[in-house]
Amino acid sequence: MQNLLALTLAGTTPVNIDGETATLRWRWLGEGLLEICPLQGYRQAVVLSAGIHGNETAPIELLDQLVTEILTGARPLAVRLLVVLGNPPAMRANQRYLTSDMNRMFGGRYQQFAPCGETARAQQLEQVVSDFFAQEHATRFHFDLHTAIRGSLLPRFGLLPYQPESYSPEMLTLLDAAELDALVIHQAPGGTFSYYSCEYARAASCTLELGKARPFGSNDLHQFSAINHALQALVSGQPLPLRGPIPIRVFRVERSLVKRSESFKLYLSDDTANFTALPQGTLVYEQPGESYRVQHDNEWILFPNPKVALGLRAGMMLTEVPRSTLF
Ligand code: ZN
Repeated sequence: MQNLLALTLAGTTPVNIDGETATLRWRWLGEGLLEICPLQGYRQAVVLSAGIHGNETAPIELLDQLVTEILTGARPLAVRLLVVLGNPPAMRANQRYLTSDMNRMFGGRYQQFAPCGETARAQQLEQVVSDFFAQEHATRFHFDLHTAIRGSLLPRFGLLPYQPESYSPEMLTLLDAAELDALVIHQAPGGTFSYYSCEYARAASCTLELGKARPFGSNDLHQFSAINHALQALVSGQPLPLRGPIPIRVFRVERSLVKRSESFKLYLSDDTANFTALPQGTLVYEQPGESYRVQHDNEWILFPNPKVALGLRAGMMLTEVPRSTLF
C-alpha cells in the first residue's frame, strides 16, 4: 500500500487495492478511503475522518502518518479502522470546498443542494460509513477532525451531535485525554458528518476542532500532539494519556443564528474569536422581524459568519453548563 495522502492528492488508484500483512488486512475502498482490520479480534470499530474541509491540512497529515505507522507495523492495530479523507478535490485545490460546504449535507441533506462534486461525495461517504458499521457488533466510534478558520479563545474543542440519550463515557474519556479545552453540545439535528454517524450508524461521534492549519507540509504537528497521542492509544488499544489539571469546559448551543434575509446584520467585528463572551443585553444580530440580545449573564459566540448563504447558520450562541449535562 502506497502513502494514502500522496495517492489521494495525486488522484490515482493504488496498484493493489487490497493486501495483508502478518497482523492486518487492508482494503482501498475508493479515493481517500481505506479500511484496515486486525487479523486477531477487536472490540472497537473506529472511523477517523479529516479533510471534509479540504484546506484543513494538519489533521489530514496526522491521519496519514497514523496509517503509515499501522501499515508498516510500527504501531499495533487493535481496532477495525476506516480512514476517510473527505474532500480530495478541495484538498488538491487547498480550499474549504469547491462548490458547497459538505459538512452541511449529511443525513440526506445533499438532496437540498444543487448537484455537485460535494453532494455526490457526501452521499458516497454516508454509504461507506453505513457499510463499515453494518453487522458490526463492536463499539462504534467516529471522530471527524477539523481545524478552525478564525481564532478561538478556547483553541481545541469538540462538537457533540444532538442525541437524546447520554454521551458515551468511553468517548468522553478520550476527549479528556486529547486535552480539549471545551465541548459544545448541539441541541438539534444537523448536517455534519459526525451527526450522520451518530444518528444513522449509532456511533459515538464527535467533530473535533483542533486549532489552526497551514498548507500541506508547513504544519507544526506538535500543536496537535495531545489529540495525536489519544488517537494512537485508541487505535492501538493502549491506555489513554492522563489529562492535565484543567478540566474540560462544557457548553450547550442556546441559539442558532439562521440567516433568513440578505439584510441580516451581525453586530460583531469580523475578527471576533470563537468563545468570545458577550454580556447580558448585548445586541447580537438583527434581520427583518427578528433580533437577538444576550439573555443570560454571559453567552459565548461560536463560528460567527454573516456571509453564509440564506437559510444557513451564521453563528451560534452558547451557554456554559455543568459536565453532568452530558449524562
Ligand atoms: Zn472544518
